Amino acid sequence: MSTTPTADAPVSITDANASLAIHCRGLVKRFGKFTAVNGLDLDVPQGAFFAFIGPNGAGKSTTIAMLTGIYGADAGRIDVLGHDMRRNPLPAKARTGVVFEELALFERLTGRQYLVFCGQMYGLTRDESETRATELLELIELTHKADTLVCDYSKGMRRRLAIAAAVIHAPDLVFLDEPFEGIDILAGAVIRELLKELKRAGTTLLLTTHVLEIAEKLATHAGVIAQGKIIAQGPIGDLYARHQVNSLDQLFEKLIGAPRAAGVRLSFH
Ligand code: ADP
Ligand code: MG
Repeated sequence: MSTTPTADAPVSITDANASLAIHCRGLVKRFGKFTAVNGLDLDVPQGAFFAFIGPNGAGKSTTIAMLTGIYGADAGRIDVLGHDMRRNPLPAKARTGVVFEELALFERLTGRQYLVFCGQMYGLTRDESETRATELLELIELTHKADTLVCDYSKGMRRRLAIAAAVIHAPDLVFLDEPFEGIDILAGAVIRELLKELKRAGTTLLLTTHVLEIAEKLATHAGVIAQGKIIAQGPIGDLYARHQVNSLDQLFEKLIGAPRAAGVRLSFH
């Protein structure tokens, strides 16, 4: 029997897992009686740039919270970087970076102090943290704001800083939840370049975004989630062939349906 994974079918649980940065099966998260994540299976190969897409409320952020150990799961198995996240999350957490949708930064530190603090939290020495902070501030084009308090940063600057903080320990896996939401063009361009650089360095990335054009340029793999379940996943080329589409937009439309506003007409024009 062939064990070759198909585009929508997750790979089987065996040696293939060794090459997966994220492997989860039957993941469930309930909030009271409401089931936000409902038996989710996800496979993200090492080195992949994985676009995790789906409508609002589909369960993307809740899934990321479980994959990063912020929320406990109600059921299922989660392996991250070869470690069982439900039993022994620390080794995976040490090699992971995450930028949540809602940022919680330390407002009374300067950008530089914040980066150095995060570096040390991840186990870097003070010297290493300072060297990397300087390099990262350059990369995110915030050197001129390095000594300004975080509370005086704009939304775009905060997002850039949060991403820099999440990668200061050179993690193997980075989660980015809606990094392009509500920011200006400059911040968007800087973040795109940073993502390209992480991809080039071989970092595994899982990105959620509504900006499918950006995801499409970078993604090697995608997963589509609706109502707490994965309805398609795999390498981009396989997904397009299987669903007879040639963009993430079309894939989204085919699997989820056109945005509801598409047919809306103004009566007064
Ligand atoms: P997405 O990120 O795909 O937009 P979320 O994971 O944020 O979706 O949310 C999935 C569903 O779970 C939504 O219906 C949301 O309202 C619900 N939800 C998320 N967090 C909570 C919470 N802390 N308590 C109750 N319901 C929640
Ligand atoms: Mg979300």
